[in-house]
Amino acid sequence: MNCPGACLVFDSERHSYRELPLRLAEYGSVSRYEREGVLHGLLRVRAFTQDDAHVYCTLDQVKDEVIDICEAIDELYRAFGFEDVGLELSTKPAKAIGSEGVWAQAEAALAAALDEQGRDYTLNPGDGAFYGPKIDFHVRDALGRSWQLGTCQLDFFMPERFDLSYQGADNSEHRPVMIHRALLGSLERFVGILIEHYGGRFPAWLAPVQARIVPVADRFCAYAEEVAAELRADSIRVEVDRRNEGVGRKIRDAELAKVPFVAVVGEREAESGQVSLRSHDDGELGAIEIAAAAARITTRWSPESLDSTAMQGTPNARAAERPAPC
Ligand code: ZN
Repeated sequence: MNCPGACLVFDSERHSYRELPLRLAEYGSVSRYEREGVLHGLLRVRAFTQDDAHVYCTLDQVKDEVIDICEAIDELYRAFGFEDVGLELSTKPAKAIGSEGVWAQAEAALAAALDEQGRDYTLNPGDGAFYGPKIDFHVRDALGRSWQLGTCQLDFFMPERFDLSYQGADNSEHRPVMIHRALLGSLERFVGILIEHYGGRFPAWLAPVQARIVPVADRFCAYAEEVAAELRADSIRVEVDRRNEGVGRKIRDAELAKVPFVAVVGEREAESGQVSLRSHDDGELGAIEIAAAAARITTRWSPESLDSTAMQGTPNARAAERPAPC
């Protein structure tokens, strides 16, 4: 876990209350010896990457930090097409460190953050960690399965163990509160969930290969490469199918590989400087200029475009009909 490392970084210099909240983020590698029988694709592995970040702040700053974290999580999950997000607030267990007063204040801050944003949540009394209360974020995928992804966890223990402090406005030393926050949890597991959610058919902005160029015959390979170069200049992830196969077969293979766009090029396209574009979702789009094809393929990520359904792609409708694996 990278949490102790974050404490050492915090402790490597003196801090004033003016620097708080201090936010430290890094991707941490975690290894865990799972028995062979419980290993499960990308969903349960022996080494994974965690996006656990750490915020050092005062108890008074917890509420605003938690609101920021919730908003970041909303934005992120929506971009990936997860709309059904459930929240759980877990409070002080029977065995816990820290005073009653600090726990009560911390739990009230978490609840106030959720209430202020008008969020529904489930209360899990006594289910918090021994070192602090927490909020967990669960998403439901296209198969109806619930996954715990994000977490926002208060920690009174680690700042104590590492003897962390900051200089307050009164010039004396104070102990900061530490918040562990993970947005996606394990990146490997998140990729596994995404693949299942979309049934491998990613929206164009997310697909590893966004477009495949299909020359109708060998002699159009040079033009196909020109088209590919032009699309790559627009940061589009593209490949050219140079195999000695018929056009029908190449298009079918691109469909099976779930490539969102196929651009067919032959005599007519090479002469007019166009491509015949097909979209996995919308079918034939006809012969269009390369720049127009690029505009069609590129659906860039931006917070403003989050509400656009085009960007979110189509969740795995066919997979939803399959019984969920146990
Ligand atoms: Zn942590």
